Amino acid sequence: MALDRSTIWPYSDGEPGEFYYQRYGHPVGAETERALGELDGGHALLFPSGAGATTALALAFLSPGDTIALAEGAYFGTGVTFAQLERWGVRYVEFDQTGPPPEGVQLVWVEAPSNPFLTMPDLEAAAAHPARLVVDSTAATPLHLRPLEHGADFVLHSATKYLGGHDDVLLGVVVCKRAEDAERLKELRTRTGIVAAPDPCSLLLRSLKTLEIRVRRQTDSARELARRLEAHPAVERVRYPGFGGLISFDVAGAQEALVLETSLGVIVNATSLGGVRSVLEARARWEGDRVPPGLLRLSVGLEPVEVLWDDLQQALGAAGSLHARE
Ligand code: PLP
Repeated sequence: MALDRSTIWPYSDGEPGEFYYQRYGHPVGAETERALGELDGGHALLFPSGAGATTALALAFLSPGDTIALAEGAYFGTGVTFAQLERWGVRYVEFDQTGPPPEGVQLVWVEAPSNPFLTMPDLEAAAAHPARLVVDSTAATPLHLRPLEHGADFVLHSATKYLGGHDDVLLGVVVCKRAEDAERLKELRTRTGIVAAPDPCSLLLRSLKTLEIRVRRQTDSARELARRLEAHPAVERVRYPGFGGLISFDVAGAQEALVLETSLGVIVNATSLGGVRSVLEARARWEGDRVPPGLLRLSVGLEPVEVLWDDLQQALGAAGSLHARE
């Protein structure tokens, strides 16, 4: 559809129409939300980033004194966002998402699969908890999981990753199971101005056309690479949930990880995930001792799998020969 960047639309016979002021809504955003709602089977709302979506959800549904149960080993930035909210009286505790969430919390927040540990939540146990359930399904994408069908109240995606898919869009989305929750979240969004602009929404709409074909190929390649990495002598551990384009694997330590990162040719040494280009990085640079020093997160792109394996093999060879050279 045409990209309409207007911030205002004329009234008709003195009456505001569907769109009148951009903060309340705009055509390309509405169209993108319709497509996203269909993918996850609920009511979708866009935000300027995944972190913006996280903040809006917390502000809309929590009050001072409330506690969030957050999956341990989930995207570390989510805990950092919640820590910002502590001054407003909202705290969080971490729990092992492969089991039931703790009692006495007002929001349960799991990640499917967690980034970068790639564990899957026990969705049945999480849905049985009386608190509202958020599933951050960024790494699974709606192709592999539709959390609203498993008892979640909200699905959250950093659309910056697989949904956007080209490393040129920063956006977040929350898909609500219930229309009344979507209304409440939309009211918070409009009043606080945590809104997504038309340009990135238009890029996201472009990207959704190729989502299925991209994710399917990324999954096929990641499965094969995970299998080969398992058998490589310089790799100590591989984490792969069996689907999706994300793998994390450990080499011996921080030095080996750095040699591998700087020996890559095709795979880009950068952060983020979900794009058409493969990227890899040692997560300890951001997460410190929350992750093993040799943990590398690989987001598999669309390059031929043999090209990716050749690149990994030569970089693993360089990392593996580190001690041989000493
Ligand atoms: N959730 C997950 C699982 C992520 O990986 C990220 C970003 O890395 C976010 C949320 C935050 O999204 P954004 O960077 O779009 O704010």
